[in-house]
Amino acid sequence: MSDLPLLTWVLVLAALVLGILAGHFGWGKRWPASLSRLHPDYLTGLDYLVTEQPDRALDMFLKLMEANAETVETHFALGSLYRRRGEVERAIRIHQNLLARKELAPEHREQALLALAQDYLRAGVLDRAEGLFQQVSEVPRLRASALDALRGVYERQHDWQQALGIYRQLERIKSAPPRTVAAHYLCELASTAIEQGDIDAARELLIRSDEEARPFPRAALLSAQIAEREGQPELAVKLLRQALSESPTLLQEELPRLLKLIGTEKRDSFLRELVAQTERRDFDELKRLVFAAIAADLGSAMPLRASIEKVFSQDSTLQAVWREGPAQSERIAQEIGALLAHAEKYRCNECGFSGRNFYWHCPACHSWDSFEAYAIVKLR
Ligand SMILES: [Zn+2]
Repeated sequence: MSDLPLLTWVLVLAALVLGILAGHFGWGKRWPASLSRLHPDYLTGLDYLVTEQPDRALDMFLKLMEANAETVETHFALGSLYRRRGEVERAIRIHQNLLARKELAPEHREQALLALAQDYLRAGVLDRAEGLFQQVSEVPRLRASALDALRGVYERQHDWQQALGIYRQLERIKSAPPRTVAAHYLCELASTAIEQGDIDAARELLIRSDEEARPFPRAALLSAQIAEREGQPELAVKLLRQALSESPTLLQEELPRLLKLIGTEKRDSFLRELVAQTERRDFDELKRLVFAAIAADLGSAMPLRASIEKVFSQDSTLQAVWREGPAQSERIAQEIGALLAHAEKYRCNECGFSGRNFYWHCPACHSWDSFEAYAIVKLR
């Protein structure tokens, strides 16, 4: 019936019972001697719930619950529970039912509007969510949460200009998320400007992005893209290397591009330098480099041979394979390369979403900068 722990349902049912009892008898009055005095509709509602007819159960409970101060919190708890379970239509019914009641106190009306907006957001009805969040953002008490949700609506619509505008409003009330989020909005806008060929606008946006958060590897990557487009491969290489040293996670995605810019002639000296630089850091970084190199079909490149052997012989997962044939590191590298070619390469640290593409903004949980190269995570 549910993917939530049974305990949660028991607690909500307990809240319902208490809410209804409070509504019927009042807290100050004597507690009823027996539950048999409960309204028969309540027992019918429970029966529907037990026989897995949730809509009929909900009808019954909504009919029973008067939206007075004692039961209104129960409405909110139940609505939020339904929303988190993904049963958004039921959550919407609960919140609309609250809003339809004339006697509802103004603060509860505002809270119900906010909850209804969250239901619409969850249901993907973005225009309705947007309108309601805007309305609720006028209420000082709820302004920060409504504006932050509105920012999420614009992110989902890829309306980065509007998202940035809301970010600035959140900054003014000291409720903004980290400045890297604003830097990402500016990079999204810069990326669109590059696609449209408006390089001057893109440069301007990247400067602003860099002012928000420094170092910001995404801005360096986009600047590298501009340099490459404008026939400045050396500058592009410099910017790409800067981005990679700031964010080693990008190695798997960007190494092939970097090697293409460097060219076959200078490839080996560059790889030697990269290995020396990585070895000065830690083992995980070396492992990251080895996997990125194998994925880029560099398993047999001479400058990497010692690093590949080191990773294979020292990594706890790979040791077993390694004992079978240390002389065959090239074959093992090829097999791992073949696995990586078909594997899901990245995973979101926040929600576990995984896939073959890298995202700055997780498509599942909408976190920023949460993607990690999956091979590293899996084999660590
Ligand atoms: Zn995620």
